[in-house]
Amino acid sequence: KFHKVLSVQVFPYGDSRKMVISNDVTKLERTDAMRRDFVANVSHELKTPLTVLAGFLETVRELPLADEERMRYLGLMDQQSKRMEHIVSDLLVLAHIEADPKAPGDAPVDIARLMRHLRDEALGLSAERHAISFTIEAGLSVTGAEGELASAFGNLLTNAVRYTPVGGEIHVRWWTEEGGAVFSVSDDGIGIPVEHIPRLTERFYRVDRSRSRDTGGTGLGLAIVKHVLQRHEARLSIRSQVDRGSTFTIHFPPHRSVPARAVDAHASA
Ligand code: ADP
Repeated sequence: KFHKVLSVQVFPYGDSRKMVISNDVTKLERTDAMRRDFVANVSHELKTPLTVLAGFLETVRELPLADEERMRYLGLMDQQSKRMEHIVSDLLVLAHIEADPKAPGDAPVDIARLMRHLRDEALGLSAERHAISFTIEAGLSVTGAEGELASAFGNLLTNAVRYTPVGGEIHVRWWTEEGGAVFSVSDDGIGIPVEHIPRLTERFYRVDRSRSRDTGGTGLGLAIVKHVLQRHEARLSIRSQVDRGSTFTIHFPPHRSVPARAVDAHASA
């Protein structure tokens, strides 16, 4: 029986050479299409701020501007370059997670430290423009990669701040449900029309492109969350109502959850 040989990769393997032959046509075609889409999206996302930046640069160089005006243009240029920096750094985080094939370890995460960081982050993000509260089940932990989880939790909190008008309320919770640890962020912000919810974790998918951009969003936050959760065998659920607010909930499986009692027993042993 003959298979169509679609891709042949040859790479050094010790002294000999190893050959990988793949014959799964549909899978390869799909991956290829996704890669093309992704490259097109990245190019577009970076090209927009780059074009704006080049325009401002030309203005500053060509026009006789008053000092005040010149400063304003430099500020705008600064904004665009920061935008590109955010996109590239989020892409690097994604690439890093994807390139790391090993599952996150089985060591319990220092949740107390993670939550402290999250509180500091909340303060920095909102600058007291929102009422942000934390309800944390002390001692409850999960096993995994602390840095990755911090980034996932942080992205949900950043979004709550980003999509909740000033004066809104945000609630962060950490508790146990059916033997598994649960993390949630609720806000009473702008909400999400139901038809968009299934697509939110796609790279660069946004409900309102201009709003996301204005608030410094890259459209990659929830894609990062999705990848981190997949690696931790955790599940994301999203509930939302337009103009009422949203709740993003992460459910960890029981085998990755470390109940408060076990930690206490360990500590006092
Ligand atoms: P972004 O950088 O644009 O925030 P994300 O991947 O983090 O990208 O989120 C994708 C989109 O999901 C956002 O552009 C926004 O439209 C929507 N979204 C995410 N979180 C919330 C929220 N808490 N309230 C309303 N909309 C949200």
